[in-house]
Amino acid sequence: MSLIKQSIPTKLIDENGLRLSGRKFDELRTTKLEMGTLKRADGSAYIEQGKNKILVAVYGPREVHPAHLALPDRCLLRCLYRMASFSVEERKSPAPGRREIELSKVIRESLEPALFLEEFPRAGIDVYIQILQADGGTRCASITAAALALADAGIRMRDLVSACAAGKVEGQVVLDIDDAEDKYGSGDMPIAMMPRKNEITLLQLDGMFEPDEFRKALELAQQGCHQLYELQRNVIKEKYKTIREEVASDEKKDK
Ligand code: ADP
Repeated sequence: MSLIKQSIPTKLIDENGLRLSGRKFDELRTTKLEMGTLKRADGSAYIEQGKNKILVAVYGPREVHPAHLALPDRCLLRCLYRMASFSVEERKSPAPGRREIELSKVIRESLEPALFLEEFPRAGIDVYIQILQADGGTRCASITAAALALADAGIRMRDLVSACAAGKVEGQVVLDIDDAEDKYGSGDMPIAMMPRKNEITLLQLDGMFEPDEFRKALELAQQGCHQLYELQRNVIKEKYKTIREEVASDEKKDK
């Protein structure tokens, strides 16, 4: 049995300005979004962003277990980010690691501002995020899908939350970095935002950015979020269009 190791790329951006994946500096990975994927969850969504494949299930608002975790004045939002053992090139231990615990917290904090948690004291909302395949930027793709799953569960929101990273590769600021660009590039800046309200709910930064590069990366990442927001909105509109058509056809049959 032979192990095939990924070779280290010598150039991340070619002479035509195209990245390893063939994208331009300001191009998102091809993204597919779906809602209502899981019938047993109150709300669910699936995202494919490049090679990332992520499933999100939402339950609630419902009774909190264990009960002592319930909050007297607001709803408890719990997010659980988990990577499947087969989601990365070398088998990942199924035990939750420090990174998964941290990402669960970061994702919860980026979604919280969009929810009216004060409307459901003592109740809980659980967001389960399962990374089936990872290729860089999974926290952002998880947030984008989780917002859609919350909307699918019928949970009232101030706005959707869309998330996207910008990065620095060979001295150039680029949008939506993948795993190779994350590993061999020199900076990663994931952001999440409520696009309609224009409020940022997450901003992280790994690597060194000059002030100009920082501004450029922030601008680019926000543009990426706005593009993802349009995709999220289209999926929601499509769902309600289908429901309206079904209701209209049922009413016709009843007459
Ligand atoms: P994000 O996925 O949000 O970019 P990181 O920057 O921590 O989060 O991870 C970047 C990428 O590194 C992941 O998307 C995944 O492709 C890869 N990765 C993360 N954890 C592991 C792991 N345990 N084994 C192999 N690859 C991993």
